[in-house]
Amino acid sequence: MTRLILATRNSGKLTELKAILADAGLDHELVGADAYPQVPDVKETGVTFAENALLKAHALAKATGLPAVADDSGLCVDVLGGAPGIFSARWAGRHGDDRANLDLLLAQLGDIDDPHRGAHFACAAALALPDGTERVVEGRLLGTLRHTPAGTGGFGYDPVLQPEGETRTCAELTAAEKNAISHRGKAFRALAPVVRELLG
Ligand code: IMP
Repeated sequence: MTRLILATRNSGKLTELKAILADAGLDHELVGADAYPQVPDVKETGVTFAENALLKAHALAKATGLPAVADDSGLCVDVLGGAPGIFSARWAGRHGDDRANLDLLLAQLGDIDDPHRGAHFACAAALALPDGTERVVEGRLLGTLRHTPAGTGGFGYDPVLQPEGETRTCAELTAAEKNAISHRGKAFRALAPVVRELLG
């Protein structure tokens, strides 16, 4: 069975990605990057989600000698010209401060009325092989931004993004409901046939 390394040390994300890929019919052995402590942290120097996902996948494939999968994601707000985009995790200055990032975004959009509050989550999922072969696919979740956060599930900007056709925010959906429509779910479901094509 081919072993495939997933570029995440976050156990929640690893469980989510394993479930998505298994549901998409992959029977490869999926292992998280924490099984390979020699892998160095990668500087995300790319300017697109796809570039950063590929950087991470290549670094992991090179360090382990195994096929590797990585993703990069964020929130893109129409009226901000696609920002925070690749800066989503550190929009308020400190990497991973979800609450500060969300509060800053809501303050920036304070005067913007509902018809102009369109936004989407985007995710690029990349596969890299040790010989340098690479593939990358993308998924999006379109929606609008609420004026105040709602819901306790999920993470990041989930409490303010209301998916198209929904009355709830992402933070009010169950994990399964979110996976079914999410940018990450779509990107990884699109990556599954690519993995099968290259690895069998
Ligand atoms: P990463 O690709 O997991 O590093 O995510 C980058 C950042 O984008 C996160 O820190 C969140 O701020 C935001 N983000 C990405 N995906 C989601 C999501 O599904 N819900 C909420 N925020 C997200």
